[in-house]
Amino acid sequence: MYKAAIIGGGVIGAMVARRLSAYDMNIVILEKEQDVAMGQSKANSGIVHGGYDPLPGTLKAKLNIEGNKLMEQTCRELDVHFRRNGAMVVAFNDEEADGINELYERGIKNGCIGLEILNGEDVQKKEKHLSERVKTALYVPSSGVVCPYELTIEAIGNAMDNGAELLLNFEVDSIENRDGLYYIESADGRKIVSEYVINCAGLYSDKIAAMIGDNSFFITPRAGEYLLLDKEASYLTDMTIFRVPTKMGKGVLATKTVDGNILLGPTSIDREDKEDLSVTDSGLSFVKSKEAEFFDDVPLDKVITQFTGLRAHGNKGDFIINMPQKGFVNVAGIESPGLSSAPAIGVMVEEMLINDGLSARKKANYNPCRVPKKRFREYTQEEKSKLIIENPAYGRIVCRCEEVTEGEIVEAIHRQPGAVDVDGIKRRTRSGMGRCQGGFCLPPVVEILARELGVSPNEVNKKGSGSNILFGRVKGGKK
Ligand SMILES: Cc1cc2nc3c(=O)[nH]c(=O)nc-3n(C[C@H](O)[C@H](O)[C@H](O)COP(=O)(O)OP(=O)(O)OC[C@H]3O[C@@H](n4cnc5c(N)ncnc54)[C@H](O)[C@@H]3O)c2cc1C
Repeated sequence: MYKAAIIGGGVIGAMVARRLSAYDMNIVILEKEQDVAMGQSKANSGIVHGGYDPLPGTLKAKLNIEGNKLMEQTCRELDVHFRRNGAMVVAFNDEEADGINELYERGIKNGCIGLEILNGEDVQKKEKHLSERVKTALYVPSSGVVCPYELTIEAIGNAMDNGAELLLNFEVDSIENRDGLYYIESADGRKIVSEYVINCAGLYSDKIAAMIGDNSFFITPRAGEYLLLDKEASYLTDMTIFRVPTKMGKGVLATKTVDGNILLGPTSIDREDKEDLSVTDSGLSFVKSKEAEFFDDVPLDKVITQFTGLRAHGNKGDFIINMPQKGFVNVAGIESPGLSSAPAIGVMVEEMLINDGLSARKKANYNPCRVPKKRFREYTQEEKSKLIIENPAYGRIVCRCEEVTEGEIVEAIHRQPGAVDVDGIKRRTRSGMGRCQGGFCLPPVVEILARELGVSPNEVNKKGSGSNILFGRVKGGKK
């Protein structure tokens, strides 16, 4: 029996679990995939927005501003990279310039700090590769970048360090409320009981709410397609560059990720299927044409991959955070700025439970900090040599593009929440994230996973069942 069951191992479930793990109570995170950070939290722009965009008075506005303020400390505690690189919303004509003034006013009302309106010349001084056709821009110094899956993984790991349980491959299929307790059953027949349920199921949060009879909202998948450029193109921009937003979102942007790649996109088109992560010709052409408006020369020969993320777009025009029934909390419709708001959403849910009479005391030994993981490529030569002497696995480079060692891959498998597949290694270490996109490191990563997990290499998959990498030997006997 659990005090709280959190459905969804995305960044929102992670931040809620982290806050609740500070209390003396049993909590569990239920995730339908075989790893965490597999939904929206793995494929987004990674921007910690300043908070000038959401309409004043909305939860989006309040939580964005609070989340942005909390992000720095959260990342420090979790040993996650965060960089306040700043952002500019650029305007090319008078109509867009009016939009910039509106955003400025809105940002001030929301409490967004440091906003400035720049003329074309000042814009050029800040980002010299931007088109000279930019007339004016809103400068947002509080905007930042973070790696969304690293943040999710480390926050869940921190909750686990503090006693939270994580049940993977647990697809919540039914929830029944009996005598003030929630009886939750997974698609494969596992059962748990919990006093509180926190619905952080992203695209499926409407389906989870409907399980207790709450049909008050629905979620539409809204696709965002991206192009990712090699670090060689990192000169293009240091800040995040936006257009004036429309009702479909913030539009196509360009940003430098916290790891130094240039990210171009996203599109914003509703899809029928919540699993449709396809990348389309039309989507990528649209991204390319919009980027060509920002920059006179977009180095498209440096594209290393493309991907799609699906936003959990709710029909209420704001985040849906409520308690439709005692003990059951919806944290739904958490589209952008959900990543930016995540630390503040964790605090809000904690307060909702306390106001509901949560009977648990704070743990005396709660630790908000994670033990830093080893990042070989960031070490000095001296530190590298010392580490290799302590453990020679750090002397074997597995991913040449991102300089990832065998030692780091082994650590990623054994540090909770441990990686169990190739993409899990990629999200935790960046092995396979570089220019060759896993061309060189895939075979050794499969071998290391098989060895450390005690399974056959044929059983190692990319990201869950049906994504096997090896199917048998083509030569050399029957094994
Ligand atoms: C294209 C795009 C760009 C974005 N850019 C930004 C940005 O730059 N800045 C920003 O602040 N925000 C951005 N966002 C929004 C941000 O990504 C989300 O707000 C945030 O990731 C939401 O996290 P979540 O935990 O609610 O959802 P998710 O990460 O989707 O997590 C939900 C989890 O629930 C699990 N789940 C679903 N159903 C079940 C079930 N039945 N049983 C068990 N588990 C289940 C899923 O597998 C998933 O892991 C963007 C989103 C997208 C898609």
